[in-house]
Amino acid sequence: MRRIAVIGAGQAGLVLAIGLRRHGYDVTVVAERPPDEVRSGRLISNQCVFHPALARERELGINLWDRDVTPIGEIEFKAVDPAGGGTPAISWRAEFDHAAQSVDQRVKVSDWMAHFAGLGGEIRIHRVTPDDLDAYAAEFDLVVVAAGRGPQFDALFPREPEFSPYTEAQRDIGIIYVRTSHPVIDGLTFNLSPYGENFAMPVLSVQGPVLGVGFFGVPGGPMDVWHDIADPGQHLEIARGLTRRFFPWHTEILDNAEPVGPLETLHGRITPIVRHPVGTLPSGRRVLAMGDTAVTNDPVGGQGANMAAHAARSYEEAVLANEDREFDEKFMHDAFARYWSVAQHATRFNNDLLAPPPEHVLATLDTAQRVPEVAHRFAHLFENPVNYTGWLTDPEASMRYLAEAGARASHGEHGGL
Ligand SMILES: Cc1cc2nc3c(=O)[nH]c(=O)nc-3n(C[C@H](O)[C@H](O)[C@H](O)COP(=O)(O)OP(=O)(O)OC[C@H]3O[C@@H](n4cnc5c(N)ncnc54)[C@H](O)[C@@H]3O)c2cc1C
Repeated sequence: MRRIAVIGAGQAGLVLAIGLRRHGYDVTVVAERPPDEVRSGRLISNQCVFHPALARERELGINLWDRDVTPIGEIEFKAVDPAGGGTPAISWRAEFDHAAQSVDQRVKVSDWMAHFAGLGGEIRIHRVTPDDLDAYAAEFDLVVVAAGRGPQFDALFPREPEFSPYTEAQRDIGIIYVRTSHPVIDGLTFNLSPYGENFAMPVLSVQGPVLGVGFFGVPGGPMDVWHDIADPGQHLEIARGLTRRFFPWHTEILDNAEPVGPLETLHGRITPIVRHPVGTLPSGRRVLAMGDTAVTNDPVGGQGANMAAHAARSYEEAVLANEDREFDEKFMHDAFARYWSVAQHATRFNNDLLAPPPEHVLATLDTAQRVPEVAHRFAHLFENPVNYTGWLTDPEASMRYLAEAGARASHGEHGGL
């Protein structure tokens, strides 16, 4: 039987491991921490997961929280008026065709590790270093490194400059989970300002239902405030101040909120990077990068967990298609190419969101207020970023589309998307 090791028990690695185990592969997951430590640890993500990734989890029988999680049924978008005045310059909402969800990754990872073990999968607890990989590559037919973002495997999977336009982080990120007596938000709120973004959404966390609130500050600007903040009370006070100053229509939500607990905040900066996906070890053996280890996006566009799920599907399909052949370098490039055929669009969409919106994107966001078709199409970029390329990547085509969609709206037609 083919023996496969997955280094890293996260959204990417566990979904792949469970999928392969269901096909009878002998799969070992090498996890940094046991499930109870993950569950009782600091929050990991804000993890808004959209329909395609959820559909995959349901196919695998591992979406275990459908009955408990608050569905994220819509997106509410507002853009700050640069002239001030306290009301948004742009404001629209659009329903998702299929609801998204945010289930705390601490819940998902710990439950999925138990599920994987229940399927007969092996779990080893080991923080793997690059030097350890040769021993794994000697023991297993295929080693997939799904150990998340960060520099630990930099030398093995070098940066691809062609696809990595940024060399530094573009946002200073602060997330907090709160309980609020304000009526529950049942959608994703996305507030845009020249200084950064603010998101809020219902989350099913290790502490039960909470509101996940994130601020993404442009470095050097007035929302670049999260360094040295350790205390959740202090975090909440700063979040209230930012909301009053930039997004006053949301003041009530945080004024009626309280922090959920000492580990329910997360601060930091993430440099977006695309890496060469195939690493060569000192022995000459090869290992394959996956998820954030291969492609790390800033969380601003909510693509990382979604693309991690897509990577799991792509790599599983590649393993099955490889039948009894060796998992050689060609296999690894082919597996990554299946994933990248979609992920490249997510990466482009996400990287473009980090730059000030150009005229045609502002025109699109503005038109979305009056033309529901445009709002619907923009909202669905988050679940299907493939639609971004050729639309908002092309200023002329996107302005033409706005004119056509506007004409359809004024004639009472529904644009088929
Ligand atoms: C603040 C924030 C908000 C986010 N919001 C969203 C969102 O709304 N939507 C979205 O799609 N994505 C979001 N993301 C991104 C998303 O969380 C990640 O892209 C996704 O979790 C990547 O999955 P992964 O499995 O590749 O990596 P991870 O989830 O990071 O999993 C990697 C695993 O490997 C383990 N590990 C690390 N090093 C080693 C080692 N040396 N040996 C063994 N194990 C190791 C880690 O403990 C971890 O369990 C957000 C991220 C952050 C930080």
